[in-house]
Amino acid sequence: MDRPRITIFDTTLRDGEQSPGCSMNVREKLRLAQQLDRLGVDVIEAGFPIASDGDFEAVQSIAASLRRPIIAGLARACRPDIDRAWQALKGARRPRIHVFLATSDIHLKYKLRITRERCLEQAREAIRNAKSLCSDIQFSPEDATRTDVAFLCQVVEAVIAAGVTTINIPDTVGYSMPEEYGDLIRTLREKVRGIEKVTISTHCHNDLGLGVANSLAGVQNGARQVECTVNGIGERAGNASLEEVVMTMRVRADRYPYETAITSEQLHPSSQMLAEITRVPVQPNKAITGRNAFAHEAGIHQDGMLKNPLTYEIMTPQSVGVPDSRLVLGKHSGRHALALRCEQLGHKFERRELDEVYRRFVVLADRIKRVQDSHLLELIHDLGDVSMQGKKFPPMPIAEISVPRAATAGVGSYEAYQAQGHGTTPAPRVNSFGEHHTDQEDYLWGV
Ligand SMILES: [Zn+2]
Repeated sequence: MDRPRITIFDTTLRDGEQSPGCSMNVREKLRLAQQLDRLGVDVIEAGFPIASDGDFEAVQSIAASLRRPIIAGLARACRPDIDRAWQALKGARRPRIHVFLATSDIHLKYKLRITRERCLEQAREAIRNAKSLCSDIQFSPEDATRTDVAFLCQVVEAVIAAGVTTINIPDTVGYSMPEEYGDLIRTLREKVRGIEKVTISTHCHNDLGLGVANSLAGVQNGARQVECTVNGIGERAGNASLEEVVMTMRVRADRYPYETAITSEQLHPSSQMLAEITRVPVQPNKAITGRNAFAHEAGIHQDGMLKNPLTYEIMTPQSVGVPDSRLVLGKHSGRHALALRCEQLGHKFERRELDEVYRRFVVLADRIKRVQDSHLLELIHDLGDVSMQGKKFPPMPIAEISVPRAATAGVGSYEAYQAQGHGTTPAPRVNSFGEHHTDQEDYLWGV
């Protein structure tokens, strides 16, 4: 079983950090970079050194403190950017300069105001400059998916001849369809001279919700590096989500037989740390890292889960670092789940008693949607006062309950989540460009 190894290029600290509300200071970036190292990403794009002093400092400190991963810094295709990127990166054990230049006619005409010929020459020259400083060079033809294919091939061939080692193909505006993006990668492999000497990379935005699907289509057609971000953060609708790409390859290895070096148990902790630092909460139903990703509320689902998690679970919460699967008590919950939660709270009931608890529980759940342990305890207490004696048992440690997976409360609960400051209005943050808003801004923020 010789599975191709996919390089995971994490751009949470660059593309992700550029997204509204996700700015991080140097200390926060360093802390997250250390977590990305534990997660096992191969490349950390630490920032865009010329964009601000803060970005420069962040790239420099990450380059100095992390020795295992490759540390990349972004640069436009011009000398000052490349020099600045190199200044920030040169302390890294494994530095990479990532140069980008738009190649689509739309961008050439309206943004850069240069001809295709000038674009070709600028790309070639930039790579020569970068190569004179650093051996590991990546090039991104920005807006590649809307670039004339013959011209794209010409640019890619020219930068390979100039010494590039990785070619990244950005779907900058999230416009591609999976089949189309896969075809583009295949075409490059068929038409570009020297392409076999470089690594092809994907960079897919999620404007139509296809970032992950496009990345996987790229891999199936020969890409061996995927650019992605934790929680899928990034410009506009974000980037391909790292956790979704990695877990798709793990859970569906029959269809996507590729290896990554990711320690999947670090996915959830990474997601939580990012949300905590940026104060941007994770969408509750977000695949893999959302708080509902492993929650089961419907009665029939809960009953199945308690009998055997395989009934409704394609991967275990533990495999992605979630402490446990949570059975949410709501109006769709069944008796079985309710009885279990009561037992965990130290109350074991006979069938008829449980009927009464359940009847009151349903009335309550209808009113408050999500029944917390405190509500349940109150309800049980009221019942005891009125008519019946709940037989009290000492609270049972979760591990002693003989079901495949016990429902838990507290750890990872919504309350705990809120207590960490999530679910409230995010604090306003200043982006890394501070107050400046120039015509160059969208040019700076490219790829
Ligand atoms: Zn991007």
